Amino acid sequence: DTQTLQNILRRIDGKGYKAYKELQGTYAFKAFTLFIDHVQGDPFAQPSRLRVRVDRAASGFDGSFTSSPSRTTALCDYLTRLFTRTARNTIKGIRGTGKGGLILIDTPAQEILPRTAMSVTDDHVEARFFLGLPAFGRRIAGRDAMEMLLSELPAIATEALFFKENRRAALTAHVTCCEDADALRAQLPCLGRVAFVADGALLPRASGIDPRPLGKGVVPFSSPASLRMEVALPNRGKVTGMGIPEGVTLIVGGGFHGKSTLLNALELGVYNHIPGDGRELVITRPDALKIRAADGRSITGTDISPFINNLPFGRSTAAFHTQNASGSTSQAAGICEGIEAGARLLLLDEDTSATNFMIRDEKMQRLVASENEPITPFIDRVTELRTRQGVSTILVMGGSGDYFATADHVIQMTDYAPEDVTEKAHAIAKEHADGRVKETTGPLRPVAHRTPHPQSIPIEERRGRVKITTYGRHEMVLGTTRITFDDVEQIVEASQTRALAQAVAIAAPLMDGSRTLADILDQVMETVEAKGLESLSDILRGDLAAFRKLELAAVINRARTFKVAGKSRPPAAKG
Ligand code: ADP
Ligand code: MG
Repeated sequence: DTQTLQNILRRIDGKGYKAYKELQGTYAFKAFTLFIDHVQGDPFAQPSRLRVRVDRAASGFDGSFTSSPSRTTALCDYLTRLFTRTARNTIKGIRGTGKGGLILIDTPAQEILPRTAMSVTDDHVEARFFLGLPAFGRRIAGRDAMEMLLSELPAIATEALFFKENRRAALTAHVTCCEDADALRAQLPCLGRVAFVADGALLPRASGIDPRPLGKGVVPFSSPASLRMEVALPNRGKVTGMGIPEGVTLIVGGGFHGKSTLLNALELGVYNHIPGDGRELVITRPDALKIRAADGRSITGTDISPFINNLPFGRSTAAFHTQNASGSTSQAAGICEGIEAGARLLLLDEDTSATNFMIRDEKMQRLVASENEPITPFIDRVTELRTRQGVSTILVMGGSGDYFATADHVIQMTDYAPEDVTEKAHAIAKEHADGRVKETTGPLRPVAHRTPHPQSIPIEERRGRVKITTYGRHEMVLGTTRITFDDVEQIVEASQTRALAQAVAIAAPLMDGSRTLADILDQVMETVEAKGLESLSDILRGDLAAFRKLELAAVINRARTFKVAGKSRPPAAKG
């Protein structure tokens, strides 16, 4: 109990830091149980791992907050944010050396994600966090530790892990918002839509590095009549907005009129957002993938022949290898790998695309004969992607009208307001039909499935464990294998990257030369689904967040050590 904790701290006060190890264990407090799972080795190391567990019944969160998986996720998300805020307001801050004095829990961005930082079950409410045990130099600061563990921590737990009537409204808004978003995403297929943007949505962000809403002068979203639809949500009831149909949708408009802002909102519409974000009801199919050019990345055995053929010196593109992709080959690879992993909606922006991958106009076709051009531009495949493979596309393109004829819908952004200009665009395409000819190298074949070779991601173990480190959202190191993936734009939290790194380490040994990458991805995702995010790590840690199969595939595909075994084979028939 707390007396034991106090006694230990008194006894080890002033001793060497290692004596803190004695704290590992379980302590019963009045209102909760404290687990000290792992004590850091020194004051500069990753802070110690702790948990506080409150009885569900005592916590006061009634069943209405956990009546659906969406609600439970949202409740955990809310409590994590509350814990962060409360800790910030409660603790004195750094004491002594290193990270001593800090109490840290995973800090969410704007998205509501399943995370390991908080667990709510019928049995308990449990926060998993990090605490920097304080020291002066390497001598234990027992008094400060006592202040942290016996006064600050109980204050935080009492404030953040128990239901408070004055928070009912905010908490209810949080869980109902998340539930509505999930319900809407689930409805999209039967509505025949790939995305929905509610009227009134606020899309622009505070800055390019700050995902919070833009404060002032925001034009709320207002749907064009022809694409307006009404959806029924379990909590909000009827809501109107723009439904983007399946097929090929083009977003046009002058520079600075809000095209990319709309596309960026759609990219993150695969996630749910917190109330007040502005994008609560911007909802996209869960298998939407942003594709951008990423010159310099490696490509391993990807079949990019739908887009690239007849390379100089007869290099194969049915199983293309490079350690230094061009803009166009990287974009082709991104699409083919995305479809291999299950993407069914592609999102592309002219701002981040290779021009020669997107278009090749009439004049250029006249000058450079197609025999001398390896690229089949996206414009000549986008319709087939839809008709043969059921892959829709939303494309931002303000600089070329060549796509008018291929687009099922054309949305023009003017002063941040969308307008349906499909008929106009189609009329222009007809009237001004030029001599541009469609270029293909035969019909679009299904993507080839690759079989990863053993040793694709060599991760050597030290003392039976792989050292896994991540840096921010776009870099991980497993053993000696470093993978960077700056171009993967739909990762929103470093916690997702930490979880992805664990998942790559689980996927690596499944690469045995007999299983396809798609099978391996499915197996990892099924395990996470069945056993929870916690199962990704052999230690219980509160800093992992949910990720999608598409990002796991993207990371593996960018590993420079990745190898494929033998020939790629067509996908096995499913179902
Ligand atoms: P485009 O891609 O058409 O060139 P952007 O989407 O990059 O334009 O938007 C240009 C600027 O306008 C950005 O700074 C963005 O934050 C701002 N913006 C976008 N949409 C809105 C809106 N609805 N209200 C206010 N500002 C907006
Ligand atoms: Mg733009």
